[in-house]
Amino acid sequence: MLDIKITKTTAPKEKPKGNLGFGRIFTDHMFVMDYTQGVGWHDPRIVPYQDLTLSPAAMVFHYGQEMFEGLKAYKGDDGANYLFRPDMNAKRTNDTNDRLCIPRVPEEDYVQAVKAIVSVDQDWIPTAPGTSLYIRPFIIATEPFLGVDVSQTFQFIIILSPSGAYYESGLEPVGIWIEDDYVRAVRGGMGFAKTGGNYAASLAAQVKAHDDGYSQVLWLDGVERKYIEEVGAMNIFFKIDGKVVTPMLNGSILPGITRNSVLQLCRDWGLPTEERKISVEELIQAQKEGKLEEVFGTGTAAVISPVGKLRYKDDVMVIGNGEIGPLSQKLYDTVTGIQLGRLEDKFGWRVRVD
Ligand SMILES: *Cc1c(COP(=O)(O)O)cnc(C)c1O
Repeated sequence: MLDIKITKTTAPKEKPKGNLGFGRIFTDHMFVMDYTQGVGWHDPRIVPYQDLTLSPAAMVFHYGQEMFEGLKAYKGDDGANYLFRPDMNAKRTNDTNDRLCIPRVPEEDYVQAVKAIVSVDQDWIPTAPGTSLYIRPFIIATEPFLGVDVSQTFQFIIILSPSGAYYESGLEPVGIWIEDDYVRAVRGGMGFAKTGGNYAASLAAQVKAHDDGYSQVLWLDGVERKYIEEVGAMNIFFKIDGKVVTPMLNGSILPGITRNSVLQLCRDWGLPTEERKISVEELIQAQKEGKLEEVFGTGTAAVISPVGKLRYKDDVMVIGNGEIGPLSQKLYDTVTGIQLGRLEDKFGWRVRVD
C-alpha cells in the first residue's frame, strides 16, 4: 500500500465545454513518485498539475529511457466511475520496464496510484456519449548524466486528459497504408514495449501515409517485410472465411489489452480464432477470392476501428464495400457496453473507482 500524500490545487481550472478533442486538455492534479537507486520508489504524492523541472542533462532527453501506458476512466450509466482492466496495464508496464532497465513498480501500487488520481479528479470524467478520461502513466529517467548507462533516478507520473468521442457519428471505416519500406520494430528489439522510441521510429511513415490520404500505417515484419504486424497504435484483426485471425505475439508486436479482450470475447462466442503469421500475399489472395470479410484495428483509443481500405504498393483492397462489418460492430458494442456498465461483466474486467 502506498501512503499517497495529497495536495489539492487552490486554483481549480474551469472544466472544458464543447468538443474535447484528444490529448490537449489536462485536469487539476497529477500523481508523482520518485525512484532513487538504493532507496526504491518513494514519496508518492498527488499535486496540482504543473510543469516539471529537470536538468537538461536528464537521461530521458538523450537516450530515450522512458515508458508510457494508456487507459481510460469512464462514467458508467449508473453514475459510477470505472476503469477497464488496469491490472493489465500494470503488468505490461513491468514488461516494458524490464526491457528498458527501468525499475519495476509493484502492480498493486500501480493500480492504487491510478485509482487515487482518478478519484481526486473524478469530476473531470466527461459524461457525453463516447467521451472518457484518458489516463497517461509514464516513467522517465531523470539522472543528469551524459554517459550511456541506466539512470539511477526516475519519476513515475500519471496525468489525465478528458477526451472527446473517437467517433462523432458511428464507427467510421479508415483507410490504411501497408508500409513496405520503413519498419517499426524487429524481434529482439523493443516492439513489444510501450516506449517512445517505437513511436519516434514510426513518424516518417505516418507522414508519408497521411500525405497520401491514409489515416494509419500498417507495419510489416522488420526482416522479410512480408508478414503483418500491427497498426500505428492498434493491433489488427482479419475475418477470413469465417475465422478471426490476428498476428501472433512474436516480440515485435505490442500486446494490446483490447486485442486480448477481443480474442476472449470471440472465443466465448464460439468463433474460430487464430493467432499466427499472416502474409500480405495471403490477404491479397483472400480478397481476390472474396474471403476477406472484415478488417479492424483494436486499441484503447478507438476500441474497434473498422478498416474500409488497405493499400499495398499498387494494390488497393476495398473491404466490405468500405462499410462496417457485423463482427466489428458487435465487438465495439460489447466492449463499450462492459466498460460503461451496460452489459454483464462476466470476465471481471470492470474496476470501480469511488
Ligand atoms: C498501446 C498500443 C496498442 C494498443 O494497446 P491497447 O492496450 O489495446 O490500448 C497497439 N499497438 C501499439 C504500438 C501501442 O502502443
